[in-house]
Amino acid sequence: MLLAWFDLGDADRVFVFFTKKFGKVAVKARGIRRPQAKLRSQIDFFRVVELELAEGRSFYALTGAVAKEVYSGLENDLQSASVAYFLLETLTKLLPDGAPQVASYHLLRGSLEALDKKYCEADVVRYFFLLSLWQILGWGLSWDRCASCRTELKEVCCLNLSEERIWCEKCATGRENLIRLNPGVGRDLSSGQLDILRSRQLSELEKDVLQKIVRHFRGKYFNEEMKSEEFMRFACGKSN
Ligand SMILES: [Zn+2]
Repeated sequence: MLLAWFDLGDADRVFVFFTKKFGKVAVKARGIRRPQAKLRSQIDFFRVVELELAEGRSFYALTGAVAKEVYSGLENDLQSASVAYFLLETLTKLLPDGAPQVASYHLLRGSLEALDKKYCEADVVRYFFLLSLWQILGWGLSWDRCASCRTELKEVCCLNLSEERIWCEKCATGRENLIRLNPGVGRDLSSGQLDILRSRQLSELEKDVLQKIVRHFRGKYFNEEMKSEEFMRFACGKSN
């Protein structure tokens, strides 16, 4: 799946693909910007492309490409497309080069499909994707047990974002800057279980909390502006 691209020289282009087998790889396509280039029409965002690659010195060289699955619903829906671009840009920034990331690959594919087929609100996909990715990369929050007394978290848990810790109500007494949430929401959205996207709805209150978590994640891991956020602000009227 295509994450990003940039032009090189007069007619070449470098594509950054997220592949199942090799993870994130840069692929040079010679002459692809020429009008008669055959592979041109096969490669675009929001599709699964089967690639044929040859080893090169600094990049892989593209020798063949066939589009296998196209998420065409994304092209006609600005809001879903803006969230989809956000997912791609997030991965471009966070994934290491050339290391297989199978769980993240499936997460992206399933999330794009959910946006394409509108299994749930685009925002739910965005929260699910980020929380699950955070978990996959090993930096996420622990939603199962209280950080102090280790009892199982049930209906309400208390989260402090700057400490990235979650407590039961008893242990949270006296602590500051707490956000309260049903731990089941956090568990579901960070589970990476794609079938959750088929039915999940969120209350305005839950969205508000998730928004804060996403903002924290974003502030911590991306220190530069994201192009897709500008697009998202335009498409959805969002300010994160
Ligand atoms: Zn506790």
